[in-house]
Amino acid sequence: MDDVKKPMILIIEDEVKLARFIELELKHEGYDVTVSNDGRDGLERFENSNPDVVLLDLMLPSLNGIEVCRRIRKTSDTPVIMLTAKGETMDKVTGLDNGADDYMTKPFAIEELLARLRVVLRRRSGSGNGTDSVLSAGALTIDTARHTVKYADEMVELTKREFELLEYLVRNKNIVLSREQILNKVWGYDYIGETNVVDVYIRYLRTKIDDKYNIRLIHTIRGVGYYAKDD
Ligand code: CA
Repeated sequence: MDDVKKPMILIIEDEVKLARFIELELKHEGYDVTVSNDGRDGLERFENSNPDVVLLDLMLPSLNGIEVCRRIRKTSDTPVIMLTAKGETMDKVTGLDNGADDYMTKPFAIEELLARLRVVLRRRSGSGNGTDSVLSAGALTIDTARHTVKYADEMVELTKREFELLEYLVRNKNIVLSREQILNKVWGYDYIGETNVVDVYIRYLRTKIDDKYNIRLIHTIRGVGYYAKDD
């Protein structure tokens, strides 16, 4: 890896021992690592260091993880993996809704963290190649080069993951896609989180598009999966 820039990982975690453990493991794997033990300081480091991935604890001093994630998303689509304590289910969903790409429940195996890091890094380096065009479904248009979505003339604000899910559905308009297909395509083959993440994101898209514009874009085939259809 000598002539390649090492991916830089920013860890924002106030459990000093855990942060230190992750830091050492990641350095051992060849990553550059910056650690912050505080929300506000972590956000500052994010702005100054331009990391490739952020590992972000939920409960932090001075600024909680949800708020840090929300502020990162105002200016950046850098992947964010939230670290949550066991049983914080509602917080997980809120974390994803605020633009996190993935979440992990503590305690976790370091191998699992490494696998998910590879997924988000690969997805990041793989974006922006080939088959770019403007896709449409009814009055909805997706500009895959500009990463923008419009309904008629109105911009639809989506998180990166919501965008990827919508693009996959509309690219395969009128074809039923199983949860597994969606998971593999949008979250990656070695995604090892919870499979209901697909349903959670379908719900986000429905809220932002179907409900908002009073259309039926995303359809459910019970027990099979989902598809997009011109309204
Ligand atoms: Ca904490």
